[in-house]
Amino acid sequence: MPLPADGHPGYRPRAPTNDLKDIVEDHLEELLRVYDERFRNTYGPMHPRVKDCLESFIRCGDPHFGFLRVRCPDCGHDKILPFSCKTRGLCPSCGQKRAIAWAERMVEQVLPDVPYLQIVFTIPKMLRRAFLFDRSLYGELSRVAYASTREFFGEHFPALDDPVPAMIVAPQSFGNLLTCHPHLHSLSSLGVFDREGTFHAAPADLDFSPLEELFRERTLEMMLRREKISEERVELLRSWHHSGFNLDASRKVDAGDRQSLESLLQYIARPPVSLRRLSYRSDGMVHYQGSKFHPGLGRDHQLVTGVEFLAMLVPHISLRWEVTIRTYGALSTTKRKNFGWIEEKTEASAPDVLTVEEEDSNFVKVRRRNWARLIAKVWLSDPEACPECGGHMRVLAAISSPAQDDVIERILRCRNQWQPPWERQRLPRGPPRQLELFQDDPGVSVWDPEDENQDPPGDWWLE
Ligand SMILES: [Zn+2]
Ligand SMILES: [Zn+2]
Repeated sequence: MPLPADGHPGYRPRAPTNDLKDIVEDHLEELLRVYDERFRNTYGPMHPRVKDCLESFIRCGDPHFGFLRVRCPDCGHDKILPFSCKTRGLCPSCGQKRAIAWAERMVEQVLPDVPYLQIVFTIPKMLRRAFLFDRSLYGELSRVAYASTREFFGEHFPALDDPVPAMIVAPQSFGNLLTCHPHLHSLSSLGVFDREGTFHAAPADLDFSPLEELFRERTLEMMLRREKISEERVELLRSWHHSGFNLDASRKVDAGDRQSLESLLQYIARPPVSLRRLSYRSDGMVHYQGSKFHPGLGRDHQLVTGVEFLAMLVPHISLRWEVTIRTYGALSTTKRKNFGWIEEKTEASAPDVLTVEEEDSNFVKVRRRNWARLIAKVWLSDPEACPECGGHMRVLAAISSPAQDDVIERILRCRNQWQPPWERQRLPRGPPRQLELFQDDPGVSVWDPEDENQDPPGDWWLE
């Protein structure tokens, strides 16, 4: 196998690690051992797949666990593209790339150019715990938000037959300090589409309080139907002046302002953990800085042990089959086809032809089988464009671990990039056992079933 020609002498790649990876590496084993006993009651059950997510996250972007080799046929420039984990709700890097790509696709291909409105739906504390134990409620709540919005807009257009808004609903499980805080971020057209796909703008001075009422009633009905709340509790919630249901519809985006629309979408699809606000301290404690004061917790940060920090993340990790963001109304595939917004494909687009060098015949079979899967795992910018001459780079080979660990080592050594995580120098971190004994602050919000206080006023629950 020809080896890359552009190994820069003395070149040391930045170790593909960060504080979150270090925390996972140090505490994954303990998390799996103690979760049910120590954390299940606070953070809900942990699906067995969460372990796989955490393990692949540690390897994300690390060429020691496999990569694609690509080369430019014009100038011979050669590079390797490590695989990424694509875990959702955990990996900040993959989460950001996903949010950016998704927002771009939505703005360029899906969302018609009309005025929009961000609507944030919040539910009372009393209803939140059920979401930890039954994640299908996120989908139910999203449907409730859409049905309420559709009904709300429909009442303003009595002359139209079956008008629908264009709506995206993104459920979020986390608050600013990574607490369990199920709520919905959504984007709705500020108006409706009729059966022909013609847009009818809503009046400028729209009052959204009827929508809040609709959302509250529909949510309570849903929670009753799913037996997550008793009739007595529902009556109690209805009797409160501030029921804990909240709707914020203050952010509008004008038609034509596609850039604001795109950044709003990136924001609502963002991953829970911000690396910028995270630090893994030398005493082994994890500090997570909030962007605002949290009145419920009485502080603006979390200071917890590594294992507790991982436990806090468990309810926010979404598994592959869990749909996180939903589109409704005029954005549904059926409607878009009816409106002529989607052209029926006349022929399937032909996949790009890839050239493969097959010198390593031992691995060819494995390689072929995994080819599509491995290529799909590369997220990096544009693997096709040559950084030297702008030419069209070709994939030479997909090298995967553990089947080709020897090839990985050979290539990385030759490129002077061999610095595997298991040989890496790590900052020694003392276990914070002593500290825990003297801490009077448990560091996380522990659910108290007796606590039926209202949510404090204001928008503290927003990011
Ligand atoms: Zn990743
Ligand atoms: Zn080139």
